[in-house]
Amino acid sequence: MDIEKVKAQVCDEVETRRPQLDELSLKIHSHPELGFQESKAAAWLTQYLKENGFSIERGICDLPTAFRASYGEGKPAIAILAEYDALPKMGHACGHNIIAASAVGAGIAAKTATNQFGGNILVIGTPAEELHGGKAIMAERGAFDHVDIAMIVHPGVRNAAAIQALACQSLEVEFFGKAVHAATRPEKGINALEAMLQSFAAINSLRQHIKNKARIHGIITDGGEAANIVPAHSAGVFIVRAEDNTYLDELKQKVINCFAGAATATGARLKYRWGDTRYAPMRNNLTLARLFQQNMQSLGRKVKLTDPSSAFGSTDMGNISQLLPSIHPMVAIAPQEVVVHSTQFASAAASEAGSHALFDAAKALAMTVVDLVANAEAVARIKEEFHQEK
Ligand SMILES: [Zn+2]
Ligand SMILES: [Zn+2]
Repeated sequence: MDIEKVKAQVCDEVETRRPQLDELSLKIHSHPELGFQESKAAAWLTQYLKENGFSIERGICDLPTAFRASYGEGKPAIAILAEYDALPKMGHACGHNIIAASAVGAGIAAKTATNQFGGNILVIGTPAEELHGGKAIMAERGAFDHVDIAMIVHPGVRNAAAIQALACQSLEVEFFGKAVHAATRPEKGINALEAMLQSFAAINSLRQHIKNKARIHGIITDGGEAANIVPAHSAGVFIVRAEDNTYLDELKQKVINCFAGAATATGARLKYRWGDTRYAPMRNNLTLARLFQQNMQSLGRKVKLTDPSSAFGSTDMGNISQLLPSIHPMVAIAPQEVVVHSTQFASAAASEAGSHALFDAAKALAMTVVDLVANAEAVARIKEEFHQEK
């Protein structure tokens, strides 16, 4: 069987579904749902997959808005991941509507490949990427235990087959002091806000001496009640990020030392809690990324393998990439001066460029599935890279 011919067929399959895929993407865009509340998106996506011959399981891993859609059987089992959560107040400012529609389009188009070569194509719906690390929870609960390869394409401002993403964990901090009149009896008070401010100062000092790419950032969510009352309570939320898990652990301790020092200095009592889910750094499988890159380039889009100049955040795809060979390419939907998580990016996610990226992503993913199901050697090379790196 001629692989190029099958690739042309899967691209045609995407083409014929343009109106439906566009509609799915725009419908999700105009009904933004926060993490773990994406019931409309999950229903629309699974409905369309079902109509196209996939068997559906909703609410997998005890997460009501997660799903698994499966077509074909045997090996390799290739998962294409969909995200569909939005951001508070900004809607789809991360463009997850495009991820969802491209994953569904790619999965349906790839049926043509598994019909001819065998293999199992999975479209896995992974909720709550932005704040709760849905994929980390799903990975812990075994959703990827029998999957050989995982792929997801995220919209961005550049085209790159591999990305950098940092390990990260969130932290909730509270200080408890003692409220008194700020003017009449200041000597009897314990100022919880000062403890928080000193923590920020200590973290800012620490920041001069941390490794490149590490990040510490936070906000104050409670800073007191009134200017004439010494604040008895303060609270903040922080995120600590690092290039690898080992350094993240080291940095987490140093950050806690900053809060503990501020507690000692002010006499306020410190209480903290690390977020339940931890985002792992992204391990890009470059053998797989090269296949994707070639397929995306065949559509006329210039794609870098890696882009060292690109910005880096964190993604729960990192957790999956630690378990099995994975890629998380970026597809441009806006010019480079636009930043992700902005209102401009939210508009781009519903624009013509966004739609174009959706179809290119779906086609490139489906063509990469062709490469994988048609060529056992490619899968073996991808797994070899994964095990060598481990
Ligand atoms: Zn995102
Ligand atoms: Zn985001």
